[in-house]
Amino acid sequence: MIAIYPGSFDPITYGHLDIITRCSKKFDKVIVAVLNNQNKKVVFSIEDRVAMIKELTSEYPNVQVDNFDGLLIDYAKKKEADVIIRGLRAVSDYEYEMQMSLYNKQLYPEIETMFLVSDTKYSYLSSSIVKEIASYHGDISSFVPPLVEVKINSKYRCE
Ligand code: ADP
Repeated sequence: MIAIYPGSFDPITYGHLDIITRCSKKFDKVIVAVLNNQNKKVVFSIEDRVAMIKELTSEYPNVQVDNFDGLLIDYAKKKEADVIIRGLRAVSDYEYEMQMSLYNKQLYPEIETMFLVSDTKYSYLSSSIVKEIASYHGDISSFVPPLVEVKINSKYRCE
């Protein structure tokens, strides 16, 4: 079974890593698909986002990291994926995720969206919160791995 875990990962957090680790134990192959959307304002370039995830997942032989643009469903077809993985943190994630999964199912009925409930440790954690705390020079060491922490802090150090 091939699973795709799509997202912006701007940047990757311990919450994302937890989902990737759990998926790597359940699926033959996990493709972490980083969205390269020119219209979405991001702090990290697509190259940086992909490089960080590659480094942090190098110990998992069945995890690949790639980038994609356009419709997720077209990318999923190209990769012959069976499953799309999404993480659910709170009820607030549910409405949007439900809409996207129904839409994807309509366009490509063979694919299933599977939701992994966030570990309670990370259920409040998002890339946006991490960036906001870092912008005020707060401590983000419990939210992101050291290599990500260094990169984020270097972005906000001069501000
Ligand atoms: P988006 O795809 O909305 O840009 P992200 O890149 O932030 O979202 O996240 C990608 C996926 O990871 C989404 O399914 C999101 O719900 C999930 N995710 C983000 N943060 C966490 C977390 N702390 N715990 C579990 N899942 C998470």
